[in-house]
Amino acid sequence: MSDQEIIVVTGDRTTGPLHLGHLAGSLQARLQLQGQYRQFLLLADTQALADHQGDYSRVRQSVIDVALDYLAVGLDPQQSTFLIQSMVPELAELSFYFMNLVSVARLERNPTVKTEIRNKGRERDIPAGFLSYPVSQAADITALKGTLVPVGADQLPMIEQTNEIVRRFNQMVGSDILRECKALTGKVTRLPGIDGQQKMSRVLGNHIALSASPDEIRTAVRKMFTDPQHLRVEQPGQIAGNTVFTFLDAFAPDQDKVAEFKEHYQRGGLADAVVKAYLEEVLLALLEPIRARRNELAHDPERILSILMAGSSRAREIAALTLYQVKKAMGMFYF
Ligand code: ATP
Ligand code: MG
Repeated sequence: MSDQEIIVVTGDRTTGPLHLGHLAGSLQARLQLQGQYRQFLLLADTQALADHQGDYSRVRQSVIDVALDYLAVGLDPQQSTFLIQSMVPELAELSFYFMNLVSVARLERNPTVKTEIRNKGRERDIPAGFLSYPVSQAADITALKGTLVPVGADQLPMIEQTNEIVRRFNQMVGSDILRECKALTGKVTRLPGIDGQQKMSRVLGNHIALSASPDEIRTAVRKMFTDPQHLRVEQPGQIAGNTVFTFLDAFAPDQDKVAEFKEHYQRGGLADAVVKAYLEEVLLALLEPIRARRNELAHDPERILSILMAGSSRAREIAALTLYQVKKAMGMFYF
């Protein structure tokens, strides 16, 4: 690979099936990048343990679930390399070296880590592995020589921290061994949950899974947060902070119709139920083909595993090369 080549590295923690937040926040961007650049999709099972220590069967099942979601939305293992984090042990080794390039105070200040700790209500009672997960993310990106990382807005501090580590390392060894990377955020950088909360997240339980059934979609849309002041149909309603409209902005193919709906809603005379019925239609049309493909693919778990094995070994060659360069630069070669 040339020094200038753009390499996309991105991934998800394998803590359960993916949801609409993932689709809007990063899957759509990955689909666009696919075929244009070399792309690595990392199934972060090691990192998932920081949240689910001991829950090994869940993390294992989620590796399959996330891979199914990738394939179902159209990510293609011929064009993108799917890898399992734990199957590339070089990533863990590199993390270990990086651990000394960042202070505990800096990790504690990382806004992503801070928010997640707050969401969990755990204060400082978190696994050390959780606090240091930005370091492991830095290792994943740099080991695969990533230069472009499609992410949701919540991950931007991670990219900043990765580049700090890169600069620190290169400066310590006096050579530009590691490459800095850029974040790429999509149109929707942070999809709210159905409760209107800042971020759709499994942890917050406010998500719609990509594999949601028509009934689950319907129930979720009915529960969805709108304008709490909009009590009667003829009243003018608010668009800002109205989750139903945020979802229509993100997913409706007919944005002219959305604009018309917004105008009508703000003028008064448009019922929440009507807007919700449209959103339900949009989400059904979006998710039904994904669900159908997913169900079909789920019949052949062996095939999924062989895709993951092949991708992991391809990625391993590159990670091993980076680790060799890193250790050589540090003088940690004795024979
Ligand atoms: P969950 O909290 O549901 O388990 P997560 O945030 O832990 O999801 P990660 O594996 O940490 O999921 O994130 C994977 C990618 O998906 C990241 O780039 C993240 O920014 C993006 N993402 C996750 N949720 C959303 C969302 N609601 N809106 C936009 N992007 C999101
Ligand atoms: Mg999470």
